[in-house]
Amino acid sequence: MELMRIVLSDIISRDLTQMKAAPNNQRPRENIVDVCERLSSISSNSGISSVLECINADALVIGAGPAGLATAVCLQRKGVHNVVVLEQSDCIASLWRERTYDRLCLHIPKHLSELPYMHFPREVPKFPTRRQFLDYLDAYARENSIRPHFNQKVWRAWHNDSERMWYVHTVAAADEGDLIQLPRTYRAACLVVASGENAEPILPSEGATPGIRSACNFPGLHQFSGKVLHSCQYKNGHSFRGKSVLVVGCGNSGLEVSLDLADHGAMPSISVRSPVHVLPREIYGISTFSIAMALSKFLTLRWTDRLLLWLSGLVLGDLSAYGFRRPSPGPLELKETIGKTPLLDVGALTRVKDGSIRVVPAVHSFASTGCFFADGNFEDFDAVVLATGYQNNVPSWLKVESTCMSDGCRGQWKSTNNLYFAGFSRKGLLGISLDARRIAVDIQQQQKFRHSTKT
Ligand SMILES: Cc1cc2nc3c(=O)[nH]c(=O)nc-3n(C[C@H](O)[C@H](O)[C@H](O)COP(=O)(O)OP(=O)(O)OC[C@H]3O[C@@H](n4cnc5c(N)ncnc54)[C@H](O)[C@@H]3O)c2cc1C
Repeated sequence: MELMRIVLSDIISRDLTQMKAAPNNQRPRENIVDVCERLSSISSNSGISSVLECINADALVIGAGPAGLATAVCLQRKGVHNVVVLEQSDCIASLWRERTYDRLCLHIPKHLSELPYMHFPREVPKFPTRRQFLDYLDAYARENSIRPHFNQKVWRAWHNDSERMWYVHTVAAADEGDLIQLPRTYRAACLVVASGENAEPILPSEGATPGIRSACNFPGLHQFSGKVLHSCQYKNGHSFRGKSVLVVGCGNSGLEVSLDLADHGAMPSISVRSPVHVLPREIYGISTFSIAMALSKFLTLRWTDRLLLWLSGLVLGDLSAYGFRRPSPGPLELKETIGKTPLLDVGALTRVKDGSIRVVPAVHSFASTGCFFADGNFEDFDAVVLATGYQNNVPSWLKVESTCMSDGCRGQWKSTNNLYFAGFSRKGLLGISLDARRIAVDIQQQQKFRHSTKT
């Protein structure tokens, strides 16, 4: 074993030394990926840290989105100071900064979207805009002196049982995998996964090569001659004026992108495949989310759902005539059981009712000029926006045997070996604050326990 370790270390060292010697712009990607893969094939007991630069911390937080920032701040307040936040991009809150559309506002009122220990400024409206939310997050990181290690994409994390330590390997990936720095190792007793439920866009594909067009497995999409993009690439409807655009997927993003397209003079059609609950964002001036929270304190889930749907009906009317079917379980029941979030309407339904947004059936397949629908009809389109959602990327890099991996870490905040999950409770920013606070308390207690057993 020891001999194998020495040989492997030697091979890796040689690769890394060669790469170090090459100028940055001549470091071939394959070489670094080869080294990374070689590292990943080494057992967890090997001496990787002796080869790569190793940075020690009390806790490692993966991701500098709202969940990672909130956890780092809570840890700091609990006296856990040596916390390293690792972020794959070059900024905090990269989802909100780089992968959301211009008109986005928080769907939940600001007092229920605040992170621990900091309020939104008074002048920010009830539903902050994307820009205002980013300003808030920037101030949150700045005022709490959270300085993530940027450009550190975690490609592997594992627990060394004998050392009782987590090891995390990162590569510094710039655009399209051009590596700008050698891989690093981080080591800590506690690992907080805060890489988000929305880490990767879901492209209906399997084993596809990079590039959205080729990655989609809607039959025939590769033949479609118009523009195809995922909603994470959509910024606004300027370039779609006068064009007929098919929005595939009726989640909050799909509905809002359709509204934006209509507002920019495009002709959007939204493809609705499954039954869906659409609720107004506010009911007579009170946020629907707040009403649901208040009702659920006194009523069962079923009764809360019934009342919510009745109130929504008063505001929105019967939507079945417009192509929206409601599922039989209520909106809260669905959220609780399968994590499906109800849609909160921010104006799209008015445009559906006046005909500016058309509701069309599920997509069957594409041809060069348009799309065949499940009902057999064909229509021409100029562009397609895939509002097909997101998924987390944790199973690709967290190498542990854990029940949470099968359902994408959902629902739990704490696992074994001081492994924690922030932001996977399906409860948005409110759930993130709760996760961050309890993770910090737990890690503080673990740290106290470790110190007391040492002395
Ligand atoms: C369009 C849209 C609108 C939304 N609106 C709301 C809303 O109004 N209210 C609400 O409560 N929620 C909303 N959400 C859900 C929202 O994503 C979260 O509430 C919030 O951003 C989650 O924060 P997070 O830190 O868990 O994840 P993220 O914001 O996704 O942050 C995770 C971070 O981890 C980094 N990361 C991922 N993988 C790695 C890796 N391997 N190595 C290193 N870093 C990594 C990412 O780059 C990212 O910066 C919305 C989501 C979307 C997509």
